[in-house]
Amino acid sequence: MDKDILSEYFENYIETETFFKNRKVLQASYMPDTIIHRDGEIKTIAGILAPALKNDLPSNLFIYGKTGTGKTLTVKRVTTQMENIAKKKKIPLKAIYINCKLRNVADTEYRLIAEIAKELKEDIKENLSEEEEKELKIHKTGVATTEIYDIFKNVAERNGKTILLILDEIDELVKKIGDEILYNLTRLNADLSNSQFSIIGISNNLTFAETLEPRVKSSLGEEDLIFPPYNALQIQQILKERSSLAFTEESVQIGVVEKCSAYAARDHGDARRALDLLRVAAEVAEREGSEKVMIKHIDVAETKIERDKVMDIVKSQPKQFQATLYSILTVTNKDNSFFTGDVYETYKKVTTLCGLRPLTQRRISDIIVEFDTLGLINAQVMSKGRYGRTRRISLSLPSTIGPRIQKILEESLGM
Ligand code: ADP
Ligand code: MG
Repeated sequence: MDKDILSEYFENYIETETFFKNRKVLQASYMPDTIIHRDGEIKTIAGILAPALKNDLPSNLFIYGKTGTGKTLTVKRVTTQMENIAKKKKIPLKAIYINCKLRNVADTEYRLIAEIAKELKEDIKENLSEEEEKELKIHKTGVATTEIYDIFKNVAERNGKTILLILDEIDELVKKIGDEILYNLTRLNADLSNSQFSIIGISNNLTFAETLEPRVKSSLGEEDLIFPPYNALQIQQILKERSSLAFTEESVQIGVVEKCSAYAARDHGDARRALDLLRVAAEVAEREGSEKVMIKHIDVAETKIERDKVMDIVKSQPKQFQATLYSILTVTNKDNSFFTGDVYETYKKVTTLCGLRPLTQRRISDIIVEFDTLGLINAQVMSKGRYGRTRRISLSLPSTIGPRIQKILEESLGM
């Protein structure tokens, strides 16, 4: 392509009127100045954590509620404000926020403790001699967990603050590394005299606390708080507020905000889903060269979001699960309703091809049940008379994404 054509394209692009007033406002990381419909929760959390401003140790707090109910936003707002005041009044308080779902942050106990130690060290790094710096060096790997605890203790004692340790998506932490870590976390203060930790655990999983050992449960949940889902009207107000910051008034068709809100309230009142829908609908509209975000763009957005979600699930499955799913897709290509045994026969061939050790049919049957729970397939239990039970399986994905998933799986399994 001629370089002048390309620069003309970019110049046109800049000139084109866009309906965004402020695109950033719809991004996941954006923190709105005003949080609506959460006054009660904000006051409760503020009340529980406020003692930290007088150097007293607040109770540990456990917060749970479904996704998109404003937990992360609310906790960050309260703790950030506390940190600001602490800074102004020279109060020794610090908030450490860790999202346990992120890779490389909380994949192992070592990584998590190293991450906390790193944050604590940040405050004292100017006072460290070269020798101390060496002694307290936080290695990424290759050091024993006991050693990182020693370093952690050392920097915590020098840090000397009351620390609000926020562990967001704490259920993901336990999923990755087991629940023993939680016991260790509740014991942090036992070895410290100069600084103290108060733990704020946040979970999207409502039944997570029930699965914990009683002593851990009572320690982490000294106080607990539920975030209820928003109702349809509340979602609409949250979305309206954000939409008015993101778009010029004439660039959103009447009814768009209402429809996004209705979609997002269908399952439970999920503000994140509402915001995602609006953002993706706007992107679709923009790419089409449309002057407005229109209702028809929301359906396209909905399909796209669903598809991306499925892709993410597929990518994050362990290898054996991927091999099972691959087998299901292969069988589906021949027949759109089949049984566990059919999947298993194909699965055995697949494992040979990609060098995996085959699991038992029993185990594959369990994996199939999990796929059903994830909504990837439909598995209906059938009685086969005296031969016992089996499952009639069919795919519950839009047929257009089957080939794309197959390709992802082939890459991941090295086939
Ligand atoms: P959770 O942590 O419960 O899954 P978040 O706090 O991440 O939910 O909220 C999801 C999205 O919705 C974020 O973009 C957040 O800014 C927005 N949001 C949630 N609740 C409110 C509210 N009450 N007012 C304004 N925006 C909100
Ligand atoms: Mg969250």
